[in-house]
Amino acid sequence: HMAGVSEIRASFLDFFGKNGHEIVPSSPLVPRNDPTLMFTNAGMVQFKNVFTGQETRAIPRATSSQKCVRAGGKHNDLDNVGYTARHHTFFEMLGNFSFGDYFKERAIELAWNLLTKDFGLDKKRLLVTIYHTDDEAYAIWKKITGFADSRIIRIPTSDNFWQMGDTGPCGPCSEIFFDHGDKIPGGPPGSADADGDRFIEIWNLVFMQFEQRGPGDRVDLPRPSIDTGMGLERVAAVLQGKHDNYDIDLFQNLIQAIRQEAQKAGAKESGGEGGPEFRHVAQRVIADHLRSTSFLIADGVLPSNEGRGYVLRRIMRRAMRYAAQIGCTEPLMYHLVPALVREMGDAYPELVRAQPLIAETLKLEETKFKKTLDNGLKLLGESSGNLKKGAVFPGDVAFKLYDTYGFPLDLTEDALKPRGITVDTAAFDEAMKKQKDAARAAWKGSGEAATEGQWFEIKDKTGATEFLGYDTETAEGII
Ligand code: ATP
Ligand code: MG
Ligand code: MG
Ligand code: MG
Repeated sequence: HMAGVSEIRASFLDFFGKNGHEIVPSSPLVPRNDPTLMFTNAGMVQFKNVFTGQETRAIPRATSSQKCVRAGGKHNDLDNVGYTARHHTFFEMLGNFSFGDYFKERAIELAWNLLTKDFGLDKKRLLVTIYHTDDEAYAIWKKITGFADSRIIRIPTSDNFWQMGDTGPCGPCSEIFFDHGDKIPGGPPGSADADGDRFIEIWNLVFMQFEQRGPGDRVDLPRPSIDTGMGLERVAAVLQGKHDNYDIDLFQNLIQAIRQEAQKAGAKESGGEGGPEFRHVAQRVIADHLRSTSFLIADGVLPSNEGRGYVLRRIMRRAMRYAAQIGCTEPLMYHLVPALVREMGDAYPELVRAQPLIAETLKLEETKFKKTLDNGLKLLGESSGNLKKGAVFPGDVAFKLYDTYGFPLDLTEDALKPRGITVDTAAFDEAMKKQKDAARAAWKGSGEAATEGQWFEIKDKTGATEFLGYDTETAEGII
């Protein structure tokens, strides 16, 4: 019998429930009272105030399966989707948490027991990393696993040191990796080709043992805490004997629905643009984006031109671009909602409640975008047709695609990426600035200069603050 995703989620929660943890439901994707964070991107987010001591809970241990989106902010996996075996924009993070209760030894022991006893994983395929100075973690792993030193890898980078922010709780972490075998390219963690998909990180154990009080001022926490996160889809892949997350039961069912509905919407199962390889990527991207967009809508995000709503719109339009390029002439996404509800509605009733809203929103957005999508793709094709690998796509055309055809910059970048073509983003920004200046000048000319001019200033500023506030890396991708 092969355990499905739902069963694996349930056995994780059950394991920690039996070990004295309160089973806590996932919090929404839009974090409550946290303007610094775009979307919930880890299980610990809903417990932040507990870890800092601002809040206490009756039971000092919790476990959850948390909805996460990593498509904006510090963690942005949008560009990885479709290309790696292990990344989604939406995924579920299984976690166990100790709020000043058990610490390192118990956390490691619980994780090891779940993986090797309850889940029955072959310990020969596991290896772990520790922060390079964390001799305590080394000794515990050594004792519990009997691993040779080559499989308890010391990592000196921030990958293995977690911080909540510039100040607040922080500490070393230890990650558990699964070796999918030498047929898959990639080296072990810490090696030069660690970015490959052979050794896949399945679980991150964070040992919050310090408090950063300011620059260079770090003290021991009197009662250290534990925060862990394991990707449900990644552990499901391992348990189902698959290498690729997109081959697990849940995704295969979604991809099956995508193939059926795409054909009804006009796509062919063979031939067509890009051939089978492109179709394969497209199906994965569409399956992933269906989840993130549907869950975001269920949690109250609606497509718009700024903020969270613009991230949602960008994800939606990206999926729609892939649908169009595998040959769909009719809107596709909203036809896929029933399949998603079938797969995930039991675990997430908000999906069932919001089903009509999700379908309506996707349909409207796809119908609207369809009007310009095909012509935009034509322009994109014509303007890039002669470009070779390594070439740079003109920024003013990327701006025209954005401004006239509704192509977010990252959609254009994503479309050109497989051909090794990048976009001249400086010229794109320049074109954007020119247009804003022109709009401003036009307002001034209308005789209402003072107030309207100010309104533009304020809008520019708040836009910038909202995005630069949590992460400068992505500001460029959000307009
Ligand atoms: P990676 O290095 O593979 O990108 P990460 O170090 O960014 O993962 P963490 O921030 O440590 O991931 O999150 C904890 C766990 O959540 C990971 O060990 C992994 O199992 C899972 N996870 C993280 N990002 C994703 C994603 N984009 N899609 C699916 N699972 C993910
Ligand atoms: Mg990552
Ligand atoms: Mg990692
Ligand atoms: Mg990690």
